Amino acid sequence: MEAIELDETFWRRRAEELQHALDSRIVIEQAKGVLAERLGLDIEGAFNVLRGAARGERMKAHDLASAVVKNRDTPQTIVRFLARNPHLFHVSSRDERVARTEEFFKRVNDTMRNELGDGDGNFLCECGNIACTEKLALNAEDLRLLHSIEGYFAVLPGHQIPEIETLVKENGRYAIVHNNMG
Ligand SMILES: [Zn+2]
Repeated sequence: MEAIELDETFWRRRAEELQHALDSRIVIEQAKGVLAERLGLDIEGAFNVLRGAARGERMKAHDLASAVVKNRDTPQTIVRFLARNPHLFHVSSRDERVARTEEFFKRVNDTMRNELGDGDGNFLCECGNIACTEKLALNAEDLRLLHSIEGYFAVLPGHQIPEIETLVKENGRYAIVHNNMG
């Protein structure tokens, strides 16, 4: 009898461990995706950042991954790690990073636009600065037309990057830019 109970405890614990390992893997995958998108790295680069940052501060990769997924701001642990290892950013060039950031915000805005349907909305600035969280007021239909042309983005006036982008049109509320990399 005692042996059977022991057995059950063992298997229950084993199942919990496996579930935990699985959850852990999922959250790490999510964090890799978030970091890749946010920092303009590829998935492998994002994993190196996550693992390196966790190791550097004796944290579990899983705990850091949860912090990445749950918070809008990038954890200070990761910021510190990147500050000490700036070469990791050179995995992709600045121009590629800018283009990827623009594409990311464009995707977010298109999702918002689809939910909004028609009318004016507050969209996110689509500039190439990953830290920019400013909003711009734009008509949903105007945005749809704008996004139907590849390489066109809506940014706040002054947020364009002249080395990479051409200013197509500007009014008081927003500027339309064309990314020349595309
Ligand atoms: Zn901006």
